[in-house]
Amino acid sequence: MAEDCIFCKIIKGEIPSARVYEDDKMIAINDVAPAAPVHVLLLPKEHTRDITTADAELVAYMLSKVKMIAEKTGIAEKGFRIVINTGDDGGQTVKHLHIHLIGGKVLGWPPC
Ligand code: AMP
Repeated sequence: MAEDCIFCKIIKGEIPSARVYEDDKMIAINDVAPAAPVHVLLLPKEHTRDITTADAELVAYMLSKVKMIAEKTGIAEKGFRIVINTGDDGGQTVKHLHIHLIGGKVLGWPPC
C-alpha cells in the first residue's frame, strides 16, 4: 500500500467506491467520472505504479477477468475497449496501475 495513493485508499475502504468485482488480487470499481455508460476500473490490490513496474503474471490475471466483468456489466456482446494509460504522456493521472474497461456506446477512435 502507498500512503498517499487514492486507489490504495479505495482498496482499503477508506474512500467509498461502487465495487463491481473483488477477489484476493484485485477489485473492479465504477469510475467516478465515467467516459461512457459503462466505465469500470480494474485495480490490483498490491500497489504498483503502472504496467512497466507490474508483475506480468498480475497483469495477465487482471486481463483474464475482463471478459467476465464485461459480461457482468452488460457490454460483452456489443463490444468494449480496454485502456491502460501509462505515465504522463500516456495520460495516467493516478499512479497505481489500472485497466479502464469502457463500453455501452460506440466509441470514437483515435483517442487523441
Ligand atoms: P487515468 O487518467 O488513466 O490515471 O485514470 C484515472 C481514473 O480514475 C479516471 O478515469 C478518474 O475518473 C478515476 N478516479 C479518480 N478518483 C476516483 C475515485 N475516487 N473513484 C473512482 N474513480 C476515480
